[in-house]
Amino acid sequence: MKYYILFGPPGAGKGTQAMAMAQKFNLCHVSTGELLRAEISAGTELGLRAAALINDGKLVPDEVVEGMIASRFASVKNVDGFLLDGFPRTLKQAEALDELLDEDGEVVTAVVSIMIPDSMIVERIQGRAMKEGRADDASLATIQNRIDTYHAQTEPLIAYYKARGKYREVDGTGAIEDVREAIFKKLV
Ligand code: ATP
Ligand code: MG
Repeated sequence: MKYYILFGPPGAGKGTQAMAMAQKFNLCHVSTGELLRAEISAGTELGLRAAALINDGKLVPDEVVEGMIASRFASVKNVDGFLLDGFPRTLKQAEALDELLDEDGEVVTAVVSIMIPDSMIVERIQGRAMKEGRADDASLATIQNRIDTYHAQTEPLIAYYKARGKYREVDGTGAIEDVREAIFKKLV
């Protein structure tokens, strides 16, 4: 099985690129952000607790997303692998993922990072706020907190995966099709 991680700051275009990648390589796309938004829409207790954190630009607890990933791995069949989008986001999550895969004799195949500068993050998220209506995209303060959270808690994962020889990076500032081609080239 392949286990790809799509990495990058908020608004880098992970969700957009994940769809094309999942189709091309027959992978199950798992977006922790989408799973959490589904909990929020369904009005579950977990959703209520998560919404407060997400709308403040903070991460939900590691155990919550780790559980979501584990249950996907256990239940999804008939794919050639998984494409993780938005997970892991902390060192603790990265270690939990390694342990979970190790139980099945599996490893992370590769991490593909879509990079854009902070100024473009704000621009893009404000642009999609209108179209998608996400509460966490609506205020500049929340966007700024998400950027800060990314630099403090998620960016250290770059060194973690570089040290393991798994890290690949593409420039995310171009057109959607160009970024897609750049990603595909990194995966052959
Ligand atoms: P993109 O626009 O590139 O798809 P994003 O950061 O804008 O990325 P999501 O990945 O959908 O959006 O995440 C939305 C929010 O859900 C995060 O800001 C965070 O609060 C929460 N979240 C998602 N994944 C995790 C995770 N692995 N650990 C903790 N919290 C998470
Ligand atoms: Mg997303």
